[in-house]
Amino acid sequence: MEVCYFDNAATTRVKEEVLEEMFPFLSVEYGNPSSLYGLGRTARKAVEEARRRVASLIGAEAKEIYFTSCGSESDNMALKGLAYQNRLEGSDPTSAFTSPQKNHIITSKIEHPAILNTCHALEKQGFEITYLDVSKEGIICLDSLERAIKPETFLISIMFANNEIGTIQPISAIAKLAHSHGIYFHTDAVQAVGNIPIKVKQMGIDLLSLSGHKLYAPKGIGALYIKQGIEIERFLDGGHQEKNKRAGTENVAEIVALGKACELAEKQLPDYQKKLKTLRDDCLTQMRLRFPDLQVNGSMENRLPGNCHVCFPHVNSSELLYKLDQVGICASGGSACSSGDSAPSHVLTAIGVPSQLAQGALRITFGDFNTKQEVDFLVEQLTKIIWKK
Ligand code: PLP
Repeated sequence: MEVCYFDNAATTRVKEEVLEEMFPFLSVEYGNPSSLYGLGRTARKAVEEARRRVASLIGAEAKEIYFTSCGSESDNMALKGLAYQNRLEGSDPTSAFTSPQKNHIITSKIEHPAILNTCHALEKQGFEITYLDVSKEGIICLDSLERAIKPETFLISIMFANNEIGTIQPISAIAKLAHSHGIYFHTDAVQAVGNIPIKVKQMGIDLLSLSGHKLYAPKGIGALYIKQGIEIERFLDGGHQEKNKRAGTENVAEIVALGKACELAEKQLPDYQKKLKTLRDDCLTQMRLRFPDLQVNGSMENRLPGNCHVCFPHVNSSELLYKLDQVGICASGGSACSSGDSAPSHVLTAIGVPSQLAQGALRITFGDFNTKQEVDFLVEQLTKIIWKK
């Protein structure tokens, strides 16, 4: 049975070009980039070329990119790194920017657990966190954000695009607001990078997290952009890799893969966006015709091109996903990280979806390997399963 994969927000299939480029670094080119002989120098060159490619995709400079093991690590590194640095500098009475009183972070209620749980961990260590509400469209309100700012706030961390409902936040406006109060701005852009244009300099982003497996590189590689001049405290101790900010021998093959994936994403972005949007809109139009009581969750205007998130009244999402799986269709009820949870998703709760309706949630996320025929098959199968009930 052929698999129809509609869960590209959970992870993506690695592209052939990416595999081809990474493979030599798992076999013949096995040098350690810190070694000074030829094998090591080849690995170093490959790592630095990948860094340049990642930087180019998001409009950063290569020296502002730090490789990590995943998006979650990038989020931890950004939030804990800044928080600990702040505490460190705060103990210095001559420090101009920070003080021991600067212990407040603002984030949103719809962040990924990589941010929410990092914030919970920081709360236990004495930091104060404000979790902002979002509108029923799934968007931050800038006035509420401004009202949440205190003299103690040192960081605002708001995701670029949501992993469940795909809504895109007003990033440039948030960054501007943060800077007007002397506050750093971090964004978890794991779902956005490679899907929509991002230029960190123009948008005023200070730190940005990304992850390889959402853009056709393998799982287990991520990166953090840190604007030059911003200091963070390292939280992984060891060697001096990544300019002393993240210890551990570089994962050369995966770094190369991420670099290639970013290069492809940059070249293909306009066509890719168009392709995903066409598939998504077609799917939604067909579903609306078959299911007039369908509820679409989150703004359609400010949304990732490949995201479709709906609720079917009187349908149980787990049963639906099970039946879809039986005919070879992979989709999701929420995010992969919360699957298995019977509680309604924190994102749907935050945008005010009643818990009963939230039980019938379906997330369909499109990718480069999807076709129109697959969309038709999906709608046909949904119709069979739901109408039979
Ligand atoms: N942030 C967001 C918005 C995500 O969607 C994900 C993964 O789904 C992560 C962070 C975590 O990324 P990783 O799986 O690479 O740790």
